[in-house]
Amino acid sequence: MDIAFIGLGNMGSPMASNLVKAGHNLTVFDLSEPAISDLVAQGAKSAESARQAAASADCVITMLPAGHHVEAVYLGDSGLLASLSSETLVIDSSTIAPEVARKVAEAAVAKGITFMDAPVSGGVGGAKAGTLTFICGGEQKAFDRSRPILEGMGKNIFHAGPHGAGQVAKICNNMLLAILMSGTSEALALGVKNGLDPAVLSEIMKQSSGGNWALNVYNPWPGVMEGVPASKGYQGGFLVDLMNKDLGLAMENAVTNKAPVPMGALARNLFALHGAQGSGGLDFSSIQRFYYQE
Ligand code: NAD
Repeated sequence: MDIAFIGLGNMGSPMASNLVKAGHNLTVFDLSEPAISDLVAQGAKSAESARQAAASADCVITMLPAGHHVEAVYLGDSGLLASLSSETLVIDSSTIAPEVARKVAEAAVAKGITFMDAPVSGGVGGAKAGTLTFICGGEQKAFDRSRPILEGMGKNIFHAGPHGAGQVAKICNNMLLAILMSGTSEALALGVKNGLDPAVLSEIMKQSSGGNWALNVYNPWPGVMEGVPASKGYQGGFLVDLMNKDLGLAMENAVTNKAPVPMGALARNLFALHGAQGSGGLDFSSIQRFYYQE
């Protein structure tokens, strides 16, 4: 397929790379010239604008930081929707507010263009390995058309519901992840302050009723687990700043829908404080340092 890929950052770059490996013809665009050159070296074609990249594409994929970037790329007189053919399949994998995803979807549908929100879970590691989870929102026909393309970048492809549902599921998941990571860090710090070995305590909780994803694959205590950000000075992984963005989306959504989220709000405050104290560029498991400084 001819695919235009726009947004070649930490996530978009390895995702686009996997689509090239899967045999698709990619035309790529980013505001960063080195990001484009990197993909061109792997067999993609370069474009000078998002519009040029999408000109003859069967499918457009965007992987942008936030909702206002997505609106800027798609909407308005110079946005992509103004120039795309109605045959084009549009997939936005950025994590943005469900309202913004619905707004872009409505504008696409008004022009007969098929649109799907498809945010991802799995981080940079999953993007590189091609094992991302895609959480899709849109019509069944959009999901069916998208699936073979998404399978080139991911392992689990879910259809959460109509437009915006992918974003809702994604922010629910990340709110829970923030709560789990904070709680796990808190329990580990309490144990260590009582003289316990964090590795032994982790193993006990993992095999007990406190077991969870953080303990299984992403232990926040330095040195307990090999290869995770905690054992690499909290470098790489999923940044505190991005977690704060997603928790902000969850809080706004909770207000709109009158949903009580006391645990999410507490996690939001913890991560906001942690970020404000200079940890925004660290992996989110660095919330461990908030509880225990060696
Ligand atoms: P990033 O900041 O590394 O990359 C974003 C890219 O978009 C940059 O290269 C930037 O130059 C480009 N860009 C911005 N505006 C543009 C425009 N108008 N036209 C073309 N390119 C433009 O971000 P990322 O880590 O790749 O994350 C992308 C999205 O995926 C975010 O919404 C994030 O929340 C989500 N996400 C990230 C992770 C992660 O672990 N990093 C995991 C899951 C989901």
